[in-house]
Amino acid sequence: MPLTPNLSNLFLGKNTLETARILADVFVRRFGEDWGTREDILKSLLPKGRASTWGDLDKRINVFAKHFYQTQKEQGKEQNTEHSEKIKFLDEVRFVLQDLPQRQDYKLPEGKEEYQAAEEAAFHFVCCSLCWRSVMRLPLEKKTPLCHLHDLPSSSPAYRRRARMRKEVEVTKLRIVKALPNLFELRWGQGVELKSYLFELCLSSASPLPYLVQYLHSLSCPPLCMPLQTERDILEALEHPIYFDKITARTKEAWACYFSDRSQHFRLNYVKILTAEAWLEVEAKHQHGGKRR
Ligand SMILES: [Zn+2]
Repeated sequence: MPLTPNLSNLFLGKNTLETARILADVFVRRFGEDWGTREDILKSLLPKGRASTWGDLDKRINVFAKHFYQTQKEQGKEQNTEHSEKIKFLDEVRFVLQDLPQRQDYKLPEGKEEYQAAEEAAFHFVCCSLCWRSVMRLPLEKKTPLCHLHDLPSSSPAYRRRARMRKEVEVTKLRIVKALPNLFELRWGQGVELKSYLFELCLSSASPLPYLVQYLHSLSCPPLCMPLQTERDILEALEHPIYFDKITARTKEAWACYFSDRSQHFRLNYVKILTAEAWLEVEAKHQHGGKRR
């Protein structure tokens, strides 16, 4: 097996326990046992030794990666390359897992109504069912996830109109995904600078995502004048609007953690970026009278 196998194929159709086992195997095969054995890694990913939620697994992978950030800082230069390879690899795993259909065959812990910490809550953001923006989920929450903009009664005409657009958005998104290079290959195979590539996708007039570029630039104009300089700026623009005056201090904290994590690992927003383009394209077509009813 090659050192960096196709992760999507490895993880496809697996549950969180199987995924953690595979990840521990691949990690040890690739980087050796400096950090710990396969069992040590597995314990760090699933401390309870059984399947967890995907959000929990993602959080654990992130915590595991942060260990190498820390060591990297402490040990200085000669260790840097090796540790940044580990960080890159774990980052890639998070990206791949996020994009795969995830098997939901775990039991949620019962009776838990709040998260212990804002960091934990920040790992439970999901996509609004009527656009690309994020929504924080409480444990055991069954309600359809809807962002601040689309938190409408399901009987309202605006809700129904967007719900009808969903199928068209899926088809559009599929077309966009197929037309763009595979992010995995870009990162590992061709050495393209990923950050500038993603910035170009979001901001350049030559971007293959014209609707997104137009949308983000419109937010940077008055009256909002949102900045678009950093990863975090772009992410905040993508999530706009968040009604901070209507959410609890705890949810605000979760948003802060979410922004901080997702802008450090900006590539994890790739799927969101493509989803936004698909929605914006379909919205534009409907606005111009095409299929509006
Ligand atoms: Zn929404």
